[in-house]
Amino acid sequence: MPSDLADELIRQTLALAPIVVPIAVLMLVLAMPMPGRGPRPLQRRDPWRGFKYAPRRAVFARAQGRCEGARFIVWGRCPSPATEADHVYPWSRSGPTVLSNGQALCRSHNRSKSNLRPPWWYLRGLERRRAAYFPADVDRRVVARMSAEERAARQVRSRRPAA
Ligand SMILES: [Zn+2]
Repeated sequence: MPSDLADELIRQTLALAPIVVPIAVLMLVLAMPMPGRGPRPLQRRDPWRGFKYAPRRAVFARAQGRCEGARFIVWGRCPSPATEADHVYPWSRSGPTVLSNGQALCRSHNRSKSNLRPPWWYLRGLERRRAAYFPADVDRRVVARMSAEERAARQVRSRRPAA
């Protein structure tokens, strides 16, 4: 009988709930962002695509030229020299090209990093590692938002007439 089949399906589904529900909750928690750090809703992409010149040098200098990635998931620090200045919140997802959204990575860590919004535990891990090597007066927090000066710097450039 179809109704027997439906009852059986419902019964089996409910029997799995004690396993499926905690896994679903865990996955949701692990995917959550750190509140107040990411780009604002509808924040436009930064016209500056990549870290260059002084901002790039500053990203490397803060990290003392070494990769800021974790050795294992969020623990330990990668021993490789840094070769790339990366956007913690990806540029394609409105993460601006500003020092507070930058990190120095080795090639391998940059390749393995997804293009998704980083979850809260990624930021916490990075900021915890930074406590060991960032100069004391430098902010360790990742913030994917532009300051007024950073915004103004882009205005100046975009008003320049095309050559
Ligand atoms: Zn690395």
